[in-house]
Amino acid sequence: MERSIETKCLHLEETEGSTINYGAISYPIYQTATYAHSGVGKSSGFDYSRLQNPTKEHLEKVVASLENGTDGFALSSGMAAISLLMELFKPGDHIIADSDLYGGSIRLFRNVSEKNGIEFSNIDCYREDIEKYINKNTKAIYIETPTNPMMHVTDIAKTSEIAKKHNLLLIVDNTFMSPYFQNPLDLGADIVVHSGTKFLGGHNDTLAGFLVTKNPEIAEKLQFLIKTTGAGLAPFDSWLILRGIKTLGIRMEKSQENALKIANWLKNQKAVTNVIYPGLPEHSGHEIMKKQARGFGAMLTFGVKNKDFAFSILEKVRMIKFAESLGGVETLITYPVTQTHADVPQEIREKNGITENILRLSVGIENSNDLIYELEKVFHETERELSG
Ligand SMILES: *Cc1c(COP(=O)(O)O)cnc(C)c1O
Repeated sequence: MERSIETKCLHLEETEGSTINYGAISYPIYQTATYAHSGVGKSSGFDYSRLQNPTKEHLEKVVASLENGTDGFALSSGMAAISLLMELFKPGDHIIADSDLYGGSIRLFRNVSEKNGIEFSNIDCYREDIEKYINKNTKAIYIETPTNPMMHVTDIAKTSEIAKKHNLLLIVDNTFMSPYFQNPLDLGADIVVHSGTKFLGGHNDTLAGFLVTKNPEIAEKLQFLIKTTGAGLAPFDSWLILRGIKTLGIRMEKSQENALKIANWLKNQKAVTNVIYPGLPEHSGHEIMKKQARGFGAMLTFGVKNKDFAFSILEKVRMIKFAESLGGVETLITYPVTQTHADVPQEIREKNGITENILRLSVGIENSNDLIYELEKVFHETERELSG
């Protein structure tokens, strides 16, 4: 019987029953840069930690197993993973990328990849006809679903049919859902990207990034690139992410439960103009999410009546932290316009609807009553001050 994902977060089938490492339950941290050889032409399988390290390799196997892939690669950050991915392409190649992506990905594509000769078309993959943008030199489609921060939902299986028909790679940044809720490889994606800093690590304490595939050719190229460019995850950070993953299931369930409660609370606030959470039945992507994911996640975006109101919320929150990042046990509130999406050109931000009135919440695992109590207090004080 195929093990459930909660169990896979804790147990890697292939190492089970093995008595290596004194039977340690927690995988050891192999804090070593290099490995001794017992003779010429002999190797333990580990030669140098830029190429392979046992702790990193164990983590890569765990993440690959969670995404139902065959090969996983652990990088020093999400952006290191996406930068490495771009090395699969050459000058003159064209990529269709969603127009609403993590700000750092947009910055990388516009400022680094374009300089290196890669061309991009940025479109709303959730609603535009992708095929219209495919040219002779198109090599890949790059999406997030739901997108950051506007929570647009793209049908992964449908997009993968288009990709396959035109011989393109479908790359899905699955950070927002985590493998606990969504597995793009099962829906036809070729490569899954994660910022492991977020839900996988889950504790706002470690940067990491992942690439996962089940295509042996892609895996071989990535293996070569990681050894050549050298942005692999360090042993201690690998261990921290391994430890984080053990509780992925209960964290995702609890933060999702809190997110739905907060979304419903926000909907009833006079000052709130819109609540964008795919778990709400009125969200345009709700039905697609039900089809392609096992949940709706813990990320939600909402609009308030004006910029002053947004500023006041950011200044008044105490337990909820006004901070960049997401996916940790602590609830964070983010102001995309000056934080995650500050480097995205204003016209693109406006087109995507990222205005000065938009706030993003990454809901953590606190007691939901305490979260709502704080929001109530902050909203109430803001109403009073702004009307006075
Ligand atoms: C944070 C994030 C990234 C970048 O990851 P880092 O670990 O911060 O480098 C990429 N994609 C998404 C969706 C993210 O949220």
